[in-house]
Amino acid sequence: MSLVLEQNANLQPLHTLAFAAQARYFARVQNVQQLAQAYQKAQTDKIPLYPLGHGSNLILPEFVNAFVVQWMPKHIRCCAQTSDYVELEVDAGCVWDDLVNFSVQKTWYGLENLAAIPGTVGAAPVQNIGAYGVEFASVVQGVQIFDAQKGELFWLEASACEFAYRHSRFKVAAVQGGLRGHTFIVAVRIRLAKQGQLNFSYADLAQGPDAPKTPAQMAARIRAIRAAKLPDPKILPNVGSFFQNPVICRAQAQSLQAQYPQIPLYATPEPDKVKVAAAWLIETCGLKGWRQGHVGVSPQQALVLVHYGHGRVQELLTLAGLIQQQVKQKFAIELQPEPEYWGT
Ligand SMILES: Cc1cc2nc3c(=O)[nH]c(=O)nc-3n(C[C@H](O)[C@H](O)[C@H](O)COP(=O)(O)OP(=O)(O)OC[C@H]3O[C@@H](n4cnc5c(N)ncnc54)[C@H](O)[C@@H]3O)c2cc1C
Repeated sequence: MSLVLEQNANLQPLHTLAFAAQARYFARVQNVQQLAQAYQKAQTDKIPLYPLGHGSNLILPEFVNAFVVQWMPKHIRCCAQTSDYVELEVDAGCVWDDLVNFSVQKTWYGLENLAAIPGTVGAAPVQNIGAYGVEFASVVQGVQIFDAQKGELFWLEASACEFAYRHSRFKVAAVQGGLRGHTFIVAVRIRLAKQGQLNFSYADLAQGPDAPKTPAQMAARIRAIRAAKLPDPKILPNVGSFFQNPVICRAQAQSLQAQYPQIPLYATPEPDKVKVAAAWLIETCGLKGWRQGHVGVSPQQALVLVHYGHGRVQELLTLAGLIQQQVKQKFAIELQPEPEYWGT
């Protein structure tokens, strides 16, 4: 079947911030042939092609002058197993949380702390999704991509993806050695342990008499914690954490700690670098719950910016700029947005 494309497509229901947005072209593709056709059309029209998952980490301008494409296949296949582990190949269109549910029901270890993260499997490698002490990088073996320049489908080993905190080569432009712009993730291969240990690196995971003992129980606990802490984007549109937790040098962290003894700091793999809780920085600037027109800082969680409805994306960008400015003024720290902006 050949590609069916929609012109001036409505993207409002296809991203969790739910601002009014249109794409020049939009298509849902079922296979590599259709994907190749979409890249050809984008090239002919001299516009970029943007892969779209569930739009839970995106800020869209009112008009996206691009060909926006969703990968629809969503199967989970077992491709190898031993007595210790199982390897799964999962299509990019699979709902991330369906994969987590599938794995914890089998009592496989590795994905339980990543329960309830919105979005698709195909987007998981892009920012190396992470939560509660676990990152996608800890389970991924390889990522299958379609390279539009070569017109080829191939597997990239995890070590070639340069996963780091909320980062991978999929976020970096081709001119800078990255994969962004000409590659589309169509599947991932992950390895999960058949016997394992739960990761309790966040204190609230083990609290109470009924501490989780199985991956399914851990996933259930994480779902409950997240539901209590984060506004549901279906009720109050948002993209989860709007800013990354900044990583600063130890000397700056020590001087901030002298001034603010309660500042939450976390170790990083680099001994001279420390991660700071962005939510605390925003809250300490007095911005938690701050509302500006149709957008605001969530009263529930200072790291989440929310759209109260009928707003425009520019309002959100202005609010984000104000937060960055105030945090910089008070702490000399630059906050970097976590979601990607498809505007200029
Ligand atoms: C309430 C809430 C809580 C969240 N909590 C977390 C959290 O705990 N941890 C976390 O890491 N994130 C979190 N997020 C952010 C978001 O859920 C993740 O980044 C998720 O992986 C995005 O998936 P998506 O399918 O919606 O991607 P989209 O938002 O559609 O796309 C995100 C990026 O990935 C690219 N992309 C998507 N699919 C493909 C593909 N097939 N090939 C190549 N590129 C692709 C897009 O072009 C875009 O650059 C949260 C978001 C919300 C709304």
